[in-house]
Amino acid sequence: MSANVLAFAESRSGDLRRAALEAVTAARTIADASGGEVHAVLFGAPGVGKHAAALGAHGADKVLVVEHAGFTHNNPEAVAGTIAARMGSGYRAFVCAASATGKDIAPRVAAKLKVPVASDLIAFEVKGAAIVATHPGYTGKVLQTLSLTATPAVLSVRPGAFLPKENAKAGASEALAPAGDPAASRVKVTETAAGNAAKLDLGEAPVIISGGRGLKEAGNFKLVEDLAAAFGNAAVGATRAVTDDGWRPHADQIGQTGRLVSPDLYVACGISGAIQHLAGMRTSKTIVAINKDKEAPIFKVADYGIVGDALEILPVLTEAVKKAKASG
Ligand SMILES: Cc1cc2nc3c(=O)[nH]c(=O)nc-3n(C[C@H](O)[C@H](O)[C@H](O)COP(=O)(O)OP(=O)(O)OC[C@H]3O[C@@H](n4cnc5c(N)ncnc54)[C@H](O)[C@@H]3O)c2cc1C
Repeated sequence: MSANVLAFAESRSGDLRRAALEAVTAARTIADASGGEVHAVLFGAPGVGKHAAALGAHGADKVLVVEHAGFTHNNPEAVAGTIAARMGSGYRAFVCAASATGKDIAPRVAAKLKVPVASDLIAFEVKGAAIVATHPGYTGKVLQTLSLTATPAVLSVRPGAFLPKENAKAGASEALAPAGDPAASRVKVTETAAGNAAKLDLGEAPVIISGGRGLKEAGNFKLVEDLAAAFGNAAVGATRAVTDDGWRPHADQIGQTGRLVSPDLYVACGISGAIQHLAGMRTSKTIVAINKDKEAPIFKVADYGIVGDALEILPVLTEAVKKAKASG
């Protein structure tokens, strides 16, 4: 059995996603434990191969570049078909991010290979012939340990759980032909509507400032945005209570029925901490909660708690972050 691992190098509109570097970093942990190589597979329109160097810098020994006009937009059928065909040449595992794209690809690859898919993992290690993985279950209330013995293993990793690590490898480019005609796919994505380009994606932001109903009204999200702007590398998230009320777009929702995130820092402002919200953020590295109710469940998962009025505390925090930034 080969010890090599294939990592999905996700790109969008010709740009490499942070999810690609996270997948390569996660793949590296398996390959290193079994003495194998990491091969990153990169799909896109002609020219996308220029990202091979970045993938090599983050641990890809080889970059398989699949350039075709049919991959200008996500083409899940043709991507999964090509990955499954390549996996047939002998790999220990396939790793992608559990991003919207990755969630579309991983089950298709697993179905084609007739193996199970282990999704949304936050850690794993190689133990003998098994990959032992950690998967948050029951909306994050429990951490399940999965012993994956099927080969190849098909794995998706939660965005933010494996931070991209610089780890220079050869990153040698090799052209890979699509397994079929990408233009013949039954699923055709004709356009990708760009969201707010100036806004950091929730899955990629190292810092997330989130607001809930405790902010009282939509206009008060300005305070959340100000704190995010002071950090400079922060995205704004929200609870479902808030997105359902139209205070924020649904794309900002974090939780069981929203985005699953694991940033370095998550600041919850006026958020009660319902299990459905915790399901999306409890694996964040450091959690800060601001709530005027000291019994609020969010404090049970918080590393730091501030009991008080978020509307008064947010401007103070924003000033403090600005000062800290200014003093280097
Ligand atoms: C099937 C299902 C799926 C769901 N999916 C999701 C999901 O994906 N994401 C999600 O978020 N929710 C989800 N929910 C909803 C979830 O159950 C909660 O209703 C929601 O998370 C509550 O949002 P909230 O914390 O903003 O509001 P609330 O629960 O109303 O909490 C507001 C908090 O603000 C505090 N507060 C009030 N004023 C202030 C102030 N001035 N300063 C500081 N604190 C203040 C209060 O003490 C309170 O703790 C789902 C529910 C169901 C049934």
